[in-house]
Amino acid sequence: MIYNFSAGPAILPKEVLEQARDEMLDWHGSGMSVMEMSHRGKEFMAIAEQTEHDLRELAQIPSNYKVLFLQGGASSQFAMVPMNLLQGKKKSDYINTGQWSSKAIEEASKYCTVNVAASSSDRNFTYIPSQDQWQLDPEAAYIHYTSNETIGGVEFHWTPQIDPNRNIPLVVDMSSDILSRPVNVSQFGLIYAGAQKNLGPAGLTIVIVLEDLLGKSLANTPTLFDYHIHAKNDSMYNTPPTYAMYITGLVLQWLKQKGGLEGIEAINIAKANLLYDFLDNTEYYHCPVAKSDRSRMNVPFTLHDSASDDAFLKQAKLNGLIQLKGHRSVGGMRASIYNAMPLEGVEKLVAFMKEFADHHA
Ligand SMILES: *Cc1c(COP(=O)(O)O)cnc(C)c1O
Repeated sequence: MIYNFSAGPAILPKEVLEQARDEMLDWHGSGMSVMEMSHRGKEFMAIAEQTEHDLRELAQIPSNYKVLFLQGGASSQFAMVPMNLLQGKKKSDYINTGQWSSKAIEEASKYCTVNVAASSSDRNFTYIPSQDQWQLDPEAAYIHYTSNETIGGVEFHWTPQIDPNRNIPLVVDMSSDILSRPVNVSQFGLIYAGAQKNLGPAGLTIVIVLEDLLGKSLANTPTLFDYHIHAKNDSMYNTPPTYAMYITGLVLQWLKQKGGLEGIEAINIAKANLLYDFLDNTEYYHCPVAKSDRSRMNVPFTLHDSASDDAFLKQAKLNGLIQLKGHRSVGGMRASIYNAMPLEGVEKLVAFMKEFADHHA
């Protein structure tokens, strides 16, 4: 049994992969693989409709929001957000909590003046700045933040509150914690996420956007970068990432069987508590992130002595625990424990870490 702790593309539920295998050559008696279907044919249209329906149901997406199934990854959203949401304004607010928000800021700076309303760079991005420290710009077109920093392992466990007298959209990059817990979509103007962390395979990017925000993109916005074009065409202006949508649809059905977002949240809390409690009760390992802001999805940690890193990774692999190497920019280890990681995977990791520490301390 192998447990895959990759940050992304990441583990998928075994049941989903088995179903995809069974349906690989002949989907529901159609005589076709999903990969071979026309995106406008009735078979794939049924898959796309079911996928959107299940996503709407799980996340309780209000009817005045559009759900878009796009390509280009979360990184293309770093440009699409300003192109579509500036709407005549020249400024935007960003919260900088790590590498992904920094990239979003860099890209948005090509289109507007970015006000970094708060940043945790002073402590190497190991915490989330509380909202009372934010210096928002009254002229900003929108407020952008990253709910979970996949590399640093810091996560918002709260939703920023917008002054009800200000009609300013809250925009969030939820790439690595989408559908890991219940979410109140109506608090947001726009939610985006690349699928390959917590939803499905690489190639699909999901955007959930308030309808009122559509149709006001910058002049010269490329057609494929305009949300309104995709919304008007039910994400079929051009070929959507059909196979990735199908697998994501299977993941959504799996999530429903797990008790929906409340059900999966309880499991995610149990997994994260198990790992963090262990980390906090050893001298050998260290997690740099502030306790209140620790990610339930990505758990970075270092060993007492980095000279043992290679031995740790090698022995972990021999024990069926793979892809634990930390991001190249931060070093150490990172265990990504997304929705699809079963509790047993984390139990096995903790047991291995304990044994390794006993031999190397
Ligand atoms: C992985 C990731 C991205 C980039 O996603 P791509 O699909 O590779 O463009 C952006 N934001 C966050 C939070 C991520 O985890």
